[in-house]
Amino acid sequence: MTVLTGAGVSAASGVPTFRGADGLWKNFRPETLATPQAFARDPRLVWEWYDWRRQKIAACESNAAHHVLAKWGARFPNFKLITQNVDGLHERAAASAKANASLSSAAVIRLHGSIWEVLCWRPCAMSPPRWRDETVPYREIPPRCMHCGDLIRPGVVWFGEGLDPDVVYRATQAADCDVFITVGTSALVYPAAGFLDIARRGGAFTVEINPDLTPATATVDLALRGPAETILPELDRQLAHL
Ligand code: NAD
Ligand code: ZN
Repeated sequence: MTVLTGAGVSAASGVPTFRGADGLWKNFRPETLATPQAFARDPRLVWEWYDWRRQKIAACESNAAHHVLAKWGARFPNFKLITQNVDGLHERAAASAKANASLSSAAVIRLHGSIWEVLCWRPCAMSPPRWRDETVPYREIPPRCMHCGDLIRPGVVWFGEGLDPDVVYRATQAADCDVFITVGTSALVYPAAGFLDIARRGGAFTVEINPDLTPATATVDLALRGPAETILPELDRQLAHL
């Protein structure tokens, strides 16, 4: 079983999606905030936005959809979770679940990095390639590397940046599965959108969970129209009878 998640999984937690009705891009322009060029031009502005998002996410809690997926990590052998989300709520749900019902960190493949990780803007020799930093809010913006004193940047993949090839490899391997469920993603952003095709070509049974129609809806074996936080717990209940 492999599940691909997008921003919709965290919508019920209060984390805004990008493209939906209340989406972040309704009020902000991606090219001014989420590109290396934007950071080079105005690191303070970019960090103010990320600091605001980190504060918002810190105040959110994982929801029933995250909890079911955390539980499935133990229920299905070789379960893999590919996520486009950077909010860390899957991991938080796993940490809060009982130890015997938890998703191992090896089972989570983060395509777009994490908002809770940072790295040196110009890689320095003293710091690790990236590290966890849960400071909320930052006392000084833009924050700096404690070793070289130069700027640090959020550990997320920005528009115009490539994905980590190792992460793409692991996700591609995971897409070769028996059952592939895509949840809460508009299925527009490649290569994430392509994992569904890989799963289908490999003979997987494909499912989409989303309250809206997406480009994937017509192509899956089963489209479940509704919010992740109600559909996933219902699926979990039905599986309990098997
Ligand atoms: P998106 O905003 O493009 O699409 C969200 C999808 O979720 C839509 O199809 C919408 O219909 C659906 N949705 C809304 N509420 C839902 C619910 N309750 N249950 C299930 N589905 C629901 O997001 P995306 O496809 O993930 O791609 C956008 C990119 O934005 C990703 O690359 C991701 O890195 C980034 N992002 C991450 C977060 C986060 O970490 N939580 C939030 C916003 C954006
Ligand atoms: Zn440094």
